[in-house]
Amino acid sequence: MEVQLMEKEKETDRINFVLKDATPAFANALRRVMLTEVPVMAIDEVEIYRNGSILYDELVAHRLGLVPLTTDLKSYNLPEKCKCEGKGCARCQVKMVLKVKGPAMVYASDLKSKDPAVKPVFPKIPIVKLLKNQSLELEATAVLGTGKKHTKWSPGHIYYTYLPKIAVHDNSEKLAKFGDKYPPQIFGKDGKIDRSLISTPALIDACDGICDDLVKVEYIPNTFVFYVEPWGQLPSKKIVQQAAKVLQEELDEVSEALKQ
Ligand SMILES: [Zn+2]
Repeated sequence: MEVQLMEKEKETDRINFVLKDATPAFANALRRVMLTEVPVMAIDEVEIYRNGSILYDELVAHRLGLVPLTTDLKSYNLPEKCKCEGKGCARCQVKMVLKVKGPAMVYASDLKSKDPAVKPVFPKIPIVKLLKNQSLELEATAVLGTGKKHTKWSPGHIYYTYLPKIAVHDNSEKLAKFGDKYPPQIFGKDGKIDRSLISTPALIDACDGICDDLVKVEYIPNTFVFYVEPWGQLPSKKIVQQAAKVLQEELDEVSEALKQ
């Protein structure tokens, strides 16, 4: 098996990588582990002291739960694997306080964390608008969790396709007949189909099967392109590394169980 990084978007930290010589079962296992078993931080409990806003308590708590928080996997344990046995301690949870008086918009950045390493990834996420004489006061508890339990603990959007092999042929007769069936984004300034513009999975899919004499799309078996789009709690590279680690541990457990 071989892994090769193809693209990395600096601004969003999205990556694509190619996984060669793997089976579809393995590719899917890797995707599912990345989505549901890489732990990240999220708010799981909220104690509300005062809520004069238009949203009732449960809605405020729900919105806070969905705020992505920067995650430090070295310093925190999953509550069920912590020495405190899930009771809650400094090794498995972080308290955050929020106190805002209206008129004001309450933003994710108003959550004041006890640990600077755990804070909202996007400070400008709006929580609720407060009018004059309204206020919001609460204490939230963030813990590590996995997407298996709730999607708020998912580290990102992760999907894959087979690696496509695309051949573009210059055929003016066929182009006149089928040209309007293709997405307009793939045509260059000269009005011809430009191979380099067929770049996203959606565009490749849209070109597949219209006319093989113009664009022929083939998928290479056992070679996959992975797309990792993180929500920001963890860097994309860390998501992949952590997933590989979790998968390895689970496979070890299986071989151990088989031996017994
Ligand atoms: Zn603990």
